[in-house]
Amino acid sequence: MTAYQCHTLVTMGGPPIENGAFVVEGPRFVKAGRAADVLADRPKEVVDLGEVAVMPGLINAHCHLDYTLMRGAILPAQSFSRWVKRINALKRSLTDRDYLRATQLGFEELQRNGTTTVLNIVSTPQILPLLPLPPIRTWFFLELIDVRPRPWIEEHAFGSWTFFSENGVQLGGLGLSPHAPYTASAKLYQLALECSRSMNLRVTTHVAESREEYAMFANASGELHDFLKQLGRPMGDCGSTSPLRHLIENNLIDSDCIVAHLNELDDRDLEILSRTEWRNLSVVHCPKSHRFLHQNRFPLEGLTERGLNVCLGTDSLASNDSLNLFSEMRMAQKTYQKLTAQDLLEMVTTRPARALKLQHELGKIAAGHLADCIALPYKGAPRDVFEGIVQNRSPIKWMLVNGQKLR
Ligand SMILES: [Zn+2]
Repeated sequence: MTAYQCHTLVTMGGPPIENGAFVVEGPRFVKAGRAADVLADRPKEVVDLGEVAVMPGLINAHCHLDYTLMRGAILPAQSFSRWVKRINALKRSLTDRDYLRATQLGFEELQRNGTTTVLNIVSTPQILPLLPLPPIRTWFFLELIDVRPRPWIEEHAFGSWTFFSENGVQLGGLGLSPHAPYTASAKLYQLALECSRSMNLRVTTHVAESREEYAMFANASGELHDFLKQLGRPMGDCGSTSPLRHLIENNLIDSDCIVAHLNELDDRDLEILSRTEWRNLSVVHCPKSHRFLHQNRFPLEGLTERGLNVCLGTDSLASNDSLNLFSEMRMAQKTYQKLTAQDLLEMVTTRPARALKLQHELGKIAAGHLADCIALPYKGAPRDVFEGIVQNRSPIKWMLVNGQKLR
C-alpha cells in the first residue's frame, strides 16, 4: 500500500482539492481526498509528489497506432478519397516489421503525453503475437473491411476474431471495428454486432467523416462514390439516405457503439439522435485530424445538447502530427468557445470511460477505481487547475498505470 501527496488533486469526481492525497493498493485506489483526512492514520510510506496536479490518466478514444510511421508522409489532401488512396499506397509499402515499430513508437508517444488508456484500431493483427505487452491499458479493435462482396465473410470475421483473441492483452481488452459504411457491408456490420453482443465486446466504427461519404450515401455521387464503384463495391445502398441513417435504419449499429467523427449530419440525423434510445451513443471527435481533412464544422453543440457522450481522440498520424490529447483539447477549445476546461478534461477521462462501459473503473481518482493517473507541474490555485492542465505543454514525468509507476 502506498500513499501519495500532491499540491492539487483533480479527481474528476468533484471539485479540485488543494493539498490532496490518495492511497493505492495493488492495481486500485483505496482512498482519495484532502491530505489531512487521507493521511490522518499516518501511513508508513508517503510519497510527496511536490508542486504538481495529479489527475486521472488520459483516455484516447480513437487511434490507429499502426499508422504511426506515416507522420508527415501525407500532405493535407484536396479530397477525402485522394487521402484514402494515399494511405492505401503507403500501407502497401510498409512491412510487418514497420507496423510493429510503428505500434511501439505510438505507445511511447501516447505515454509521454499522459495517455494511460487507448482505443486502438488494428488493421495489421498479424503483428500482435510479436508485440511486447503494451505499457498502457489498450483496447485493440480489429478492423473489418469488405469493399467487394466476399463469400467467406463469416470465416473472415470469426477467423480473425479467434486469431485475435488468442493473442490476448493483459490490461484492456478486445473489440471489433467494421471500418465505415462505405468499406464494410451491411452483412459485416451485422456479424460484428452479433459477435459483440454474444461476447460482450465493444464495437467502434467511422461514420459520416467526410462530405464525400455523405454525398455517396445521399446522392450516389462524388469522388468517393466513383472510386468505390470502380473497385467493385455494390452501390445499391447509395442514393437515398445519410451514412448515419444507413447504419441506424438497417440495425447495423446500436447505442453501445463508439462512433468516430459524425462530421456530416443533416437535420434528420440530428432528429433521430434526439430519441431516447440514442442518448447513450458515444461519439469521438478528433479535432486536429478534422482540421487536416478540411471537413465541415463538427456539430458538437447539437450532439452534447442531445445528451450524447462526446469524447476526444487523436486519430492517426496519417492525418495528425502528434498523439497528444493536450493539443487536441486546445484545438477543440479554439473552435468551441463555450466548452469549459472542465468539459474538455471530461472528454478525455470520464466520458471515454463511459464509452468503454467502465465508468466505475476508469476516468476518476476514487476509491475502487483502477489506479491510472498522471502528474503535471502545477502550483496555482485549485480554481485555475483545469485550465492549467489543458495548457500543459510538457511531457509527463510521472504516471501510474494499474497502480504501477511507469515514468
Ligand atoms: Zn480513424
